[in-house]
Amino acid sequence: MRDSIITRCEAKGLRLTGQRRVIAQVLQDADDHPDVEELYARASGIDPRISIATIYRTVKLFEEAGILDRHEFGDGRARYEDAERDHHDHLIDMNSGEVIEFIDPEIEELQERIAARLGYRLKGHRLELYGVPLKKDET
Ligand SMILES: [Zn+2]
Repeated sequence: MRDSIITRCEAKGLRLTGQRRVIAQVLQDADDHPDVEELYARASGIDPRISIATIYRTVKLFEEAGILDRHEFGDGRARYEDAERDHHDHLIDMNSGEVIEFIDPEIEELQERIAARLGYRLKGHRLELYGVPLKKDET
C-alpha cells in the first residue's frame, strides 16, 4: 500500500498545520479529481475556518512537492489527484464533465513502441480522451 499523503508530506519535511492536515486528508480520501472549489467544499465541511486561499496555497505546495498531480480536462480548471495512485488514463465525457479512469495494456505497449521507434525509453505519459456518449443506435 502506498504511504498516505500526510506521511509523504512529513517525509518531504513539509510543515503540516491543522488546516493543511485536513486538506491532505480530504485529498487522501478522494477517489475522483476535485478542483479547488470542490476541495474547499469538502475541507470546509470538516473545518469551517479553512479559506479558499489556504486550499490554493496548499495544493500548490503539494503539487510542487510531487505529492499531487494536476490535470486540466479541457475546461481550464485545475483538478488534483494523488500522484502516487496507480497509473491510469482518463476519458472525459464532454456532456457531463464526468471523468472516467481506464487502463489499457495495448495502449501502454503501443506508446512504448512509439517511444522506442523514436529512440526513447518511455518514462511516463498522459493520455486524455474526450468524447460524448454513444447514442443507443450507435452501440
Ligand atoms: Zn485519475
